[in-house]
Amino acid sequence: MDEPTYPTKSRFPLLLPIIIVAMSGILFYRNGEKWLRNILVYLSQAAWARQIISNWSIAWLVASRFVAGEDRQAAVDVGQALNENGMMLTLDYLGESCTSEAEASTARDEIMRILEDINRHQLKANVSIKPSQLGLKIDPALAQENIGAIVQKAKQYGNFIRIDMEDHPTTDATLAIYRHLRHNIGLDNVGVVIQSYLYRSEKDVEKLIEEGASMRLCKGAYAEPAEVAFPKKIDVDGNYLNLSRMTLSRNALANGVYPAFATHDPRMIDEIKIYTKTNNIPSDKFEFQMLYGIRRDLQESLVKEGYRVRIYVPYGTAWYPYFVRRLAERPANLWFFISNFFRA
Ligand SMILES: Cc1cc2nc3c(=O)[nH]c(=O)nc-3n(C[C@H](O)[C@H](O)[C@H](O)COP(=O)(O)OP(=O)(O)OC[C@H]3O[C@@H](n4cnc5c(N)ncnc54)[C@H](O)[C@@H]3O)c2cc1C
Repeated sequence: MDEPTYPTKSRFPLLLPIIIVAMSGILFYRNGEKWLRNILVYLSQAAWARQIISNWSIAWLVASRFVAGEDRQAAVDVGQALNENGMMLTLDYLGESCTSEAEASTARDEIMRILEDINRHQLKANVSIKPSQLGLKIDPALAQENIGAIVQKAKQYGNFIRIDMEDHPTTDATLAIYRHLRHNIGLDNVGVVIQSYLYRSEKDVEKLIEEGASMRLCKGAYAEPAEVAFPKKIDVDGNYLNLSRMTLSRNALANGVYPAFATHDPRMIDEIKIYTKTNNIPSDKFEFQMLYGIRRDLQESLVKEGYRVRIYVPYGTAWYPYFVRRLAERPANLWFFISNFFRA
């Protein structure tokens, strides 16, 4: 697949702290992966680090492996290439917690425009949105109004909106907005996300199955305390498989549940493949989802095997936190980052 071209950034000299953090992280890598992850999660939220790294050309070079580009045209180009390779996509206009009503409206308007572009270019694409980007942390009613307008607009185009799930203090409000739109307003083109690291998710899935929801299942990307989330990966993985089987149960499918398995974990994917084959579940009753730029080999092989695959494609200028979270998920990617630095 051809890579789109990306805008160039100016180089920034004050990199020493980042390199020191990254290098020391790598020195500790064997025993200290968790430590390194925590540093990266911290850096993803730190304004000073964003300021330095966002203006650094090499950071953009590495980030562009995970981000389609800075504008809608770049997103459309990537979308067309993915469609040609047999993959669907979900577009994400990058941006997280907004701090004003005006910022939330700007994000809403951009998302409306991407819906128009998807329609104009007849892309096999839907859109993922983040409630905090649309005002959730300012006022849940504001987020509900903005998300409602987006879902209505998508409905006019016969398209679908996935409401991403963020950190646990927003889970109830996010599910409430979803339920309001789905059940009070009667919009059927909206779905939610469940995170297998949360203890509460099994109960949430039970209820969403009764309601016949479209659910994306992921492990969860935020640093959550042990009071609300499984601290051990083995439990997160076990719960992922448990929840995936629940969403594929006869009762769930009969109720209209459409599960989307968002993971790059070959073990989760293999187990789901075995479960669906053993239970004669047709491959059009669910889909696999992966992030743009991660495990392209796996994405392609699933398509070849006849599975539905949807790629989550982020675009926009606010790529920094998204990019650093991807490094946190797999600190080995830091090698790529640092080797590019020394090569440039
Ligand atoms: C389409 C999609 C949508 C998502 N939406 C949300 C959401 O709304 N809310 C939320 O909290 N989280 C979301 N996530 C993130 C998700 O919760 C995980 O943080 C992320 O997917 C890592 O978990 P994993 O299951 O892919 O693999 P992990 O359990 O982290 O790792 C298992 C294996 O997967 C592979 N792998 C994983 N990450 C990488 C990587 N970066 N580079 C290379 N290989 C890798 C490796 O082989 C690794 O050994 C989403 C993920 C996807 C794919």
